[in-house]
Amino acid sequence: MFVCPNCNGKNIGKIGARHYYCWNCFIELSVIHNRLAIHQVESDGSLSSLDDLFTENERRIQW
Ligand SMILES: [Zn+2]
Repeated sequence: MFVCPNCNGKNIGKIGARHYYCWNCFIELSVIHNRLAIHQVESDGSLSSLDDLFTENERRIQW
């Protein structure tokens, strides 16, 4: 399991084949080509990308 790039926590739950959820900071993490795509779930259920807040290095998964 990897750590959350946002809070460095390990409180990550698997919600799909390539989708994870951080229960600390309530963001959705998708694994795409060994990189994380980070999304915030809005109150209306839509997703907004937080990828711009992280560097390539931070988004690389270190299993
Ligand atoms: Zn987190």
